[in-house]
Amino acid sequence: MDYKNFKIETDEDGIALITWDMPEKSMNVIDLSVMEELDAVVDQVVGDDAIKGAVITSGKNAFSGGADLTMLEGLLKDFHVQRAKDPEAAAKALFEGSRKLTLVYRKLETCGKPFVAAVNSTSMGGGTELALACHARVADEDLKMGLPEVKVGLFPGAGGTQRVMRMADGQQGMQFLLQGKTLRAPQAKQLKLVDEVTQSKKLVAAAKKMLKAGIDPVKPWDKKGFKLPNGNIYSPAGFQFWPAANAIYRRETFDNYPGARYLLHAVVEGLQLPMDLALQVESRYFAKVLQTPEAANMIRSLFVSMQELNKGARRPIDQRPNNIKKVGILGAGFMGAGIAYVTAQAGINVVLIDRDQEAADKGKAHTEDLLSKAVKRGRSTEDKKAKILSRIQATADYEELADCDLVIEAVFEDREIKKTVTEKAEAVMKSRAIYASNTSTLPITSLAQASKRPKNFIGIHFFSPVDKMMLVEVIMGKRTSDRALAMALDYIKAIKKTPIVVNDSRGFYTSRVVMTYIREGLMMLADGIPAPMIENAGKMAGMPVGPLSLGDEVALDLAWKIVSATRKDLGVKYVEGPLDNILEEMVVKRERFGRKNGKGFYDYNGKDKSLWPGIPDVVGQPKSADSFNIEELKQRLLVMQALESARIFEENCLTDVREADVGSILGFGFAPYTGGTLSYIDMMGTTAFVELCKKFTRKWGPRFKPNKLLREMAKDNETFYGRFPPKGEVAVKDAA
Ligand code: NAD
Repeated sequence: MDYKNFKIETDEDGIALITWDMPEKSMNVIDLSVMEELDAVVDQVVGDDAIKGAVITSGKNAFSGGADLTMLEGLLKDFHVQRAKDPEAAAKALFEGSRKLTLVYRKLETCGKPFVAAVNSTSMGGGTELALACHARVADEDLKMGLPEVKVGLFPGAGGTQRVMRMADGQQGMQFLLQGKTLRAPQAKQLKLVDEVTQSKKLVAAAKKMLKAGIDPVKPWDKKGFKLPNGNIYSPAGFQFWPAANAIYRRETFDNYPGARYLLHAVVEGLQLPMDLALQVESRYFAKVLQTPEAANMIRSLFVSMQELNKGARRPIDQRPNNIKKVGILGAGFMGAGIAYVTAQAGINVVLIDRDQEAADKGKAHTEDLLSKAVKRGRSTEDKKAKILSRIQATADYEELADCDLVIEAVFEDREIKKTVTEKAEAVMKSRAIYASNTSTLPITSLAQASKRPKNFIGIHFFSPVDKMMLVEVIMGKRTSDRALAMALDYIKAIKKTPIVVNDSRGFYTSRVVMTYIREGLMMLADGIPAPMIENAGKMAGMPVGPLSLGDEVALDLAWKIVSATRKDLGVKYVEGPLDNILEEMVVKRERFGRKNGKGFYDYNGKDKSLWPGIPDVVGQPKSADSFNIEELKQRLLVMQALESARIFEENCLTDVREADVGSILGFGFAPYTGGTLSYIDMMGTTAFVELCKKFTRKWGPRFKPNKLLREMAKDNETFYGRFPPKGEVAVKDAA
């Protein structure tokens, strides 16, 4: 039989090699055509007497990226349309539609002939679930195996929850599922999720050898007397484990993620049942979680929108792709060194410049450190390390910038210094080369005044630590050209990060919103709310850290500098508030700058930290926690950030709802289960959101006053996605 996505070759030993290789895709994903064909492939294997067993592998350089979630989005859209007419039929269709893959995998698992998965390199989501449904698994040393569904608000719904927990140690299995983390080959083997690890060139041979040695086509859980690795749920061991699992779930999620909640349900209930029923239970919860707004928002922002932005949704269509060969970096400090590392790792040559050779070398040493750690952990090799390091030329000589396509400036946050280096760099740069500043606060338009070619001047704002943070904020100055934007976006694509594009303003988007979160924490202190309650409210609301903790990380002296600059800029119009007093006390009087000098709202002792007992000396004795409503505090922290985002959107600094949402989650960890700042407003409804803002204005102050755009939208309860539908995705050819 001929398939679009699979090729089958049977050898003289009767082993069918099934190669999954989707045409016109760089990665195998699971879509409807794959499901249908895989079903037919199983029939073919079963029906052909010459075939004794089968090996499934991928023809690409990775096994699979998992399910194509746009398929689920489509299923959900149909569900919502149908639900209005016939809710029962709609629910049934969603249940059946969303368990198709489960049934194909179960058919493979019970077909009577053994299947071995030969997993090459990356295997995610539905791809991993396919491997788990096979009767044995061989992986190569580059394996990265994950079930990351919880990260987009779902859980593994094609048997993953049931099979992992029947194969792995309970605690490790639960952690793997709940955290959505990626396993390397040794960990996957330790968890018993793969049986053998081998070199990639020996992968298929090893899988065939396994089959020849004999693989039982009946899974242990389909035989009488099967025992779970950690014993039954209702057993002394189960009694030790499951109440703790529930507590861990609460600690990790604060019950904000329905995907994680239903995952736990599916596991606990499914493990008490035979496999077919267990899979039915899993499917029921999967259909349930699909219908939650959290899942819909997370799929939209963290899968669909992120993919569109990564593919260049904001790239000007008429600009030719840039083939970026050499990038100059000015300033080899904390940020410059990180930018050099990610650029060299993407195969681009780097000129790393600082004031003297020693400082430039120090910046390059950062790459060496990171690579040495990777080699030590088995994630890289000495060869790769040497290759990447050879791409970085550390120097103090500006002449080396002559053949750079792009120069990124990351010197001190000081206008005069930035002006000097801009002039020095432009004096040697090619006239068509693009110049970008990594400034975190200074408006790009004003920095571009130092440039003779303001059209070629743009902001490329990285987040720290550069190697870990996935977002890059691109800032358009007043005169920045589309050519400069295309260059910035092509560069960000090359280093495999996600871009958002914003118009110029003080603090741009991300820094401006983050500052409101920190400010709200300080305002809460001034309101007499106990510091631990403020920090817990932040974490319970879904933020990665509390606002006081974040203030310490960003540095309180920096916050004080920003407040002082704003006061200077606004002059008599500046309204003094509790914020000024708290920061002045902390920074000027007590030299508590935050983590960087080991004392801020927390005291730091190595990796340990604890809230500073002297906080009441600065803000007064707190009131009793009972006088505050924790739900309201959680809302207060999220509403302030969402409101600021809506203002930035109205001011046209943000122009695309996708960027507001994706940028907020990737840039500052805004409660991911909401789908981002604007999705949070949409989820609540603009009418309810504006009412809440008004209530907070009366109770907590005028900074909660809803802006005009929101008040207008609230009249008809309009949504951001309804009123400002994202523009279509723009196809961009890869650079030659
Ligand atoms: P840093 O102090 O660690 O590094 C600045 C580097 O610039 C130093 O190595 C310094 O020697 C070098 N330098 C100064 N004058 C120079 C000159 N004339 N020529 C060449 N090199 C010169 O600072 P950083 O934290 O890396 O910040 C750099 C820029 O990145 C700033 O504009 C900052 O606002 C921005 N930024 C910082 C962060 C962050 O988290 N630190 C995040 C985003 C953006």
